Amino acid sequence: MARLNDNYLKLQAGYLFPEISRRVNEFTSANPGVEIIRLGIGDVTKPLVPEVLKAFHAGVDDMAAEQSFHGYGPEQGYSWLAQTIIDKAYKPLGVELETSEVFISDGSKCDSANILDIFDLSCKVAIGDPVYPVYNDTNVMVGRTGAADENGYYEGIVYMPCTEENGFTPQFPAEKVDIIYLCFPNNPTGTVASKEQLKGWVDYARANDAVILFDAAYEAFITEAGIPHSIYEIDGAKECAIEFRSFSKTAGFTGVRCGLTVVPHALAGTTASGEKVSFNQLWNRRQCTKFNGVSYPVQKAAAAVYSDAGWAQVKEVIDYYMGNAAIIRKGLQAAGITCYGGVNAPYIWLKTPGGMTSWDFFDKLLNECHVVGTPGSGFGPSGEGYFRLSAFGDRANVETAVQRIVEKWGK
Ligand SMILES: *Cc1c(COP(=O)(O)O)cnc(C)c1O
Repeated sequence: MARLNDNYLKLQAGYLFPEISRRVNEFTSANPGVEIIRLGIGDVTKPLVPEVLKAFHAGVDDMAAEQSFHGYGPEQGYSWLAQTIIDKAYKPLGVELETSEVFISDGSKCDSANILDIFDLSCKVAIGDPVYPVYNDTNVMVGRTGAADENGYYEGIVYMPCTEENGFTPQFPAEKVDIIYLCFPNNPTGTVASKEQLKGWVDYARANDAVILFDAAYEAFITEAGIPHSIYEIDGAKECAIEFRSFSKTAGFTGVRCGLTVVPHALAGTTASGEKVSFNQLWNRRQCTKFNGVSYPVQKAAAAVYSDAGWAQVKEVIDYYMGNAAIIRKGLQAAGITCYGGVNAPYIWLKTPGGMTSWDFFDKLLNECHVVGTPGSGFGPSGEGYFRLSAFGDRANVETAVQRIVEKWGK
């Protein structure tokens, strides 16, 4: 029999969301008829906006006639979509990019995983804690780590705790690393990094010949002026950073699938013999060999997100979710519960009342308030004692959930 990839066996069982489902199912079978309010999983709830749907439908109709039919598109995505993104999402930030630096994809989960193809296995990786699990698990899968310890920390990865003390922004690693994952606005903590903080990371990366993998999946949720939407707003970032963006949360594309990765021409790595080569060249080769592009109607729909009418509609949905976030944050804070996030991100990261563990709070919230959230410890050891509530939901449900939590724990 063929040998399998043993690295997969090092992964701990996908524990978090299956365990949440198990506990919720147990509760609902024991309590039939009780309505549960779900503020747990990070998925959008509102449908696609009309302008996007119109473009999506038109894209499908194009496929029906010989003159407008589209077969294989460019592996990098259509340049008209890349140009639209550059003009509408980057130029207003003062960031200049070429279309050959923008790679359209089927989402940033895949990209942030696949990007490891273009780095040598010897690269040392630094990851936040708590964290979006994809960064950690994909490094285990490619064989960059040893086994996990009792905390769930894998041997060989440098973890950067994100705690209340450091404002949920990691400290620079004590040892030299080659790849640093940063996600701002952050999932799960909902916190953002200032320009000064990101400048610190860019300077650090350049001084240490490291590459920053910057996940900006939630940039559209930033409401405060002065918070960077892109790592490229920082001088020198094109020489040290790859940026991932997604239409998933921005425009409700979680089930449609479209994202993009920016790999600047100025970003170089070194070969075994010490020569400098652009990572853009490698990523382009990787995509051309292993990917066949995003469907034409989806790219038409994605371009419509950045039309004037499309963006106005998309923004209205984002504002709705952020309205939910404000209701959760203000409601809990007024009741004396410490919480973070929810201002520039659709997540509220709350400190469990009375120092309960994340899972104890989960059980109490489910059993006594009929509200489902996500235990912070599921995102990493430093998430213990915290809990994530998502703002993706129905307004009335959010109000009811907050009211129940405040009645139960409010002081
Ligand atoms: C939701 C999310 C994404 C987006 O993933 P897609 O594959 O584009 O749907 C990326 N990063 C983080 C941290 C997320 O929470």
